Amino acid sequence: MSKESRKFHVPDALANLYDFANTLDLRHFTHRGVQHQQADALQDPAALGEWMRQHGLIERAAPSQKTFEAALRLRAAIRDYLKCEPTERHRKPAVTAPLNAAMEPFALRVATIGKDGFALRPVMSDAQAGLSAIVAELYDAASAGMLGRLKMCAADECQRVFFDRSKPGTRRWCQTTLCGNREKTRTYRERHRHDPTSES
Ligand SMILES: [Zn+2]
Repeated sequence: MSKESRKFHVPDALANLYDFANTLDLRHFTHRGVQHQQADALQDPAALGEWMRQHGLIERAAPSQKTFEAALRLRAAIRDYLKCEPTERHRKPAVTAPLNAAMEPFALRVATIGKDGFALRPVMSDAQAGLSAIVAELYDAASAGMLGRLKMCAADECQRVFFDRSKPGTRRWCQTTLCGNREKTRTYRERHRHDPTSES
């Protein structure tokens, strides 16, 4: 759980998944005259270790270069998956095959967890095991019918992953008042630019 996931009321059950997908910040729109700077919180294995510590996914061990590369592959595959329309995701082998391959290094087992029943736990106990929690959240979110609400903002200049809390679950933008309006204004302008009857 992070400040961001709390701010946007992302359910705790998928807060790590949400934060992990958003460690890559591709936003480059201009808001109130200031251009948003793109950033990647996972620059190197040390940065990955720091991010995992902040999320309680690791204690002391530092991720190896191999784990770091596996993490980046996992993040890219998850982002590509979430970018698809929820109803289309399972129909896209170009998206599901790389995701399956990217999840493979993060083996999970089923374990009892007291009165709450069962949970998925990492098979390994090394630094890589910490990231298995992200894969477990994917599985749990899908089982709970919540994964379809985790989406990528449709604005090209945003591409932030967001949790759709709207009743019908059909939101396309992380913030309709910002990304949605920006896109609508642009579409309007473009349409009028190409319209020969337009005065401008
Ligand atoms: Zn957005």
